[in-house]
Formats: sequence, C-alpha cells, structure tokens
Amino acid sequence: MEIKIPNEVMELIGKRGIKEADVKDVIETAESSNKKIVMGNRNIAKKLIGQATVYVDYELEKGLVRKHATVKSAYSHRLMLGDIVNATDKSDWVCAHCNEPAMYGHVAMTYMQVTRNGPAVVCPKCRDSWVEEYLATKTLAAVEGLFEKKRA
Ligand SMILES: [Zn+2]
Repeated sequence: MEIKIPNEVMELIGKRGIKEADVKDVIETAESSNKKIVMGNRNIAKKLIGQATVYVDYELEKGLVRKHATVKSAYSHRLMLGDIVNATDKSDWVCAHCNEPAMYGHVAMTYMQVTRNGPAVVCPKCRDSWVEEYLATKTLAAVEGLFEKKRA
C-alpha cells in the first residue's frame, strides 16, 4: 500500500494536530478490514486513536502490484459515537463492509458525560457511523468547545 500525502494536506493535518503516522494507520486499518464508506474512488475511513476519532478522506487507485492511496484530507472529533438513532435520507455513500447504501441520519454522541443526537452517515446494517468533514470541523468542534468552556 502506497500512501501519498500532498504538501498542502500535510500542512492542514498538522494544523489540526493529526500525525502522519495516524493517517497511515487509519488507511491501513480500513483497507485490511474493509470498514469505510465509499463513493466512486473516494473513501472515508475512521479509527479511534487515543481520545479522538481520526478520519481520513482518500482516493484509491489500483496499481499493477499494489493499491495507491492519495490523501485528500484528515480531521478528527473527540465526541464518542454511540448507537444509530435514525436513518432518514439516502446518501451517495456505500458501506464497503456490507456493500449496502449508507444513509444520512443521527447518532448518539457523547462528550464529557453528556449525550446528544448529532448528524452522521450511518449504515443501518452494521450500525457503524461516520461524520463528514464539514460537520466534524465546524459543528462538532463548536460543541466540544462549548462543553470544555462549561467545564473550565
Ligand atoms: Zn455496514
């Protein structure tokens, strides 16, 4: 497995406090377990690393001998994802593990002992869930910040 991380992506993930080794770990784990969501050659995989769920958005090309992954982005959130609450709308994502369409819905999200429902891409079959980048970096980051402020 060859993993390419363009310079601008290295800079972005550095700002987000994500390590290059974590990015590789997320991709390698996803490719060996086939647990990820896929849309064409685009893939989103996640892994719990320490206190954070780290996501990698990458494109996959089949080479002659091995697969090549090009990292498009990486991001993380610290809320813990729990059970699926609902699956309401169709999405263009496919759960690679189940080979079934993934849906837009809601998942129980817990942070600092408080649980709320939040939006996610969910697989009704294996009940796994994924948070897209704009939600993780904007909405969830704001929620985490509020909780930390209350606690401080
Ligand atoms: Zn699934």
